[in-house]
Amino acid sequence: MSLWRGLAVVCPACRGELAAGPPGATCAGCGASYEDEDGVLRLVAGRLGVPGFDPHFFSALHEVEDRHFWFVGRRQVVLSALRREVPDFASRRLFDIGCGSGGLLAFLARSGVPVCGACDVYPESLRLVRTRLDVPLLLVDEGRRPPLGPGYDLFGMFDVLEHVDDDVDALRGLWEALAPGGGLVLTVPAHPWLFDEMDEIAFHRRRYRRSDLRRALDLAGFEVKLLSHFMAPLVPVLTVVRSLGRPFGRRSSTERRQIEFRVVPGVNGLMRGVLALERAAMARLALPFGSSIVAVAARPR
Ligand SMILES: [Zn+2]
Repeated sequence: MSLWRGLAVVCPACRGELAAGPPGATCAGCGASYEDEDGVLRLVAGRLGVPGFDPHFFSALHEVEDRHFWFVGRRQVVLSALRREVPDFASRRLFDIGCGSGGLLAFLARSGVPVCGACDVYPESLRLVRTRLDVPLLLVDEGRRPPLGPGYDLFGMFDVLEHVDDDVDALRGLWEALAPGGGLVLTVPAHPWLFDEMDEIAFHRRRYRRSDLRRALDLAGFEVKLLSHFMAPLVPVLTVVRSLGRPFGRRSSTERRQIEFRVVPGVNGLMRGVLALERAAMARLALPFGSSIVAVAARPR
């Protein structure tokens, strides 16, 4: 098995063994070579594809992620889920699949979760992650299984699975890269009836029912430990916003997106408080309702 800066990696073109640096890496099978730029290994086989997420938004995200109720609420839910369902998380090392600008990952690292690395399909997002975290980073192909070798302890995948065409295949790829007993914590957008143009501009293929996500995890071989909705207070808001369509006036989806990312002082504080109450309820039961779903699953030993 090849290690690059401590990460088990394989050739993205032929999935063969890599003779790994640092810097860079070369495939022993097909001879392809991969560059290391500032601690980012460009592990791509040339299929970066069309960005499923407008890179223009990355710098805005970077600024709002630490304040906006949606991002703050989501990261707290993820941390609570890890503490409850993966009690030995401090002795594992988490690798983040599709880390975006890295706000959630940096928060987990600050909260005592050991982080071993992350991958994403956008160089722009990895540049932002680099400003927040000093961990090995992989630039990977969109729409393919990430080129990871076996033996990982714990994967995070936050609002990524809904972008993937074949979600069961993607989960199966993670199952194979996990050591027996390894874990996966993930979040996805929920309630297919909320799917609208805002999902389309974010290149979402779907939103999930809890039963959909359970079935995909089952088919990939995972044992499901936790499957709960969260962000229940957002469902009525999104229903109104999305079914009436234009409470903001006749705006483009890009403008609507900028509005959704705005931090409105009173509303933001109120929502953060309501979501804290929701988390207290989640410690007792899995919620059947909410605009997102959090899951924790394990590869059986
Ligand atoms: Zn190769």
